[in-house]
Amino acid sequence: MMFEKNSAIIKDVKKLSFDYVPAKLVHREEQMRRLEMLFRPMVTDGVPCSAFLIGSVGTGKTVTAKRFCEDLLKYYAGNSKLMDHIFINCRIRNTAHGVILQMIRNFDTGFPDRGFSADEMLRSLKRHVESRSRPLVLVLDEVDVLLKNSNSDLIYQLSRFTEEMQGGSSISMIMISQEPVSEMLDSASISSFKRANTIKFDKYTKNELKDIILARADEALMSGVVDLDVADLLADIGKVYGDARLVIEMLEKAAAIAEEGENGRLTADDVRSANAMIYSNVSENKLATLDSKRKVALLAIARAMKGDPYISITRAEKTYAVVCEEYGQSPRKHTQFWTYVQDMEKINLLDTMVKSETDGGRVTYISIPDIPPKELAKKLEYMLESPISDDEFEF
Ligand code: ADP
Ligand code: MG
Repeated sequence: MMFEKNSAIIKDVKKLSFDYVPAKLVHREEQMRRLEMLFRPMVTDGVPCSAFLIGSVGTGKTVTAKRFCEDLLKYYAGNSKLMDHIFINCRIRNTAHGVILQMIRNFDTGFPDRGFSADEMLRSLKRHVESRSRPLVLVLDEVDVLLKNSNSDLIYQLSRFTEEMQGGSSISMIMISQEPVSEMLDSASISSFKRANTIKFDKYTKNELKDIILARADEALMSGVVDLDVADLLADIGKVYGDARLVIEMLEKAAAIAEEGENGRLTADDVRSANAMIYSNVSENKLATLDSKRKVALLAIARAMKGDPYISITRAEKTYAVVCEEYGQSPRKHTQFWTYVQDMEKINLLDTMVKSETDGGRVTYISIPDIPPKELAKKLEYMLESPISDDEFEF
């Protein structure tokens, strides 16, 4: 029968989707607190407020803005007050016309997309906002796309709306961008915003990514299927980019792969396969740049790795001695082996990290981020056996 297998890994796949907004955002408490501070005048006195959220891709700007607005709506509802909220992605609505149109349609779903001048549309929008007699929070996500396409007139006009409004209406704005937008706004617009209202979103560190992964796994997956070590490996892969989207996407893929398997848990290999699917950046080209000594060293590491997320360098060197013998090479000393490892780390074939042991010593661990070690080993064996080897040029 189809679909008879109960899922062993995934509990609720929606919690891994890119537009899911978690109830709590780990490591964005500070940004949430600053938003709360900046918007307090709106909540207490109906004064329009504004904030710029600035940070690179996957640093949680969009999800933080959404979380904040949902919390605001809840707060207003809980206090029997009213508030409007419009979220616009300016990558999709990338002209002033598109933005105003989406805003008007929030109040009048049938508003035609042609036949009205910009002025008429603005007036229509104003009438709607005024008749609501409540604050409106407008989120302009990826606002830099809009600003590159059109001048900042629209933002200026929207920010000035409130001055002429009565009856508790106002427009507050959250503007999101990867780069600071102050250079893109003209001076009139800038002066209508306060200077200190930029909230920075830094790239996530490895440990922050790990917490995000664990929090998301907790919601989306069966309990206990993700080991700390496996979360560590995921965070290690993601740390170069500091991008939460990337690690969540990889967690989702790895979970789907694990669901197909028989382990009943998410393994390091599932993570590597997911990574390979997403990036497949262990191209044969990269391996081809290695000479045969480094190929042998990498093969040894791949074989020693088996299904583990990390192995100690000592364990790798033991296997290295065996593999050298197999390929008729004399094994290099520890310092040389370490140089090989570092070379390969530079081109992202390997990752290393130093762990403190319980006895106080420090041990170097190696991981293979991009590809299941078995597949890597197969590729290397094939390359080492192929007749066109670089060995011929080495003497
Ligand atoms: P940005 O808008 O900065 O590019 P997003 O807000 O879209 O980034 O975040 C990317 C993905 O990572 C989304 O799926 C989001 O839910 C998730 N995410 C980002 N930060 C966190 C966090 N602190 N906790 C949980 N999930 C997060
Ligand atoms: Mg975003």
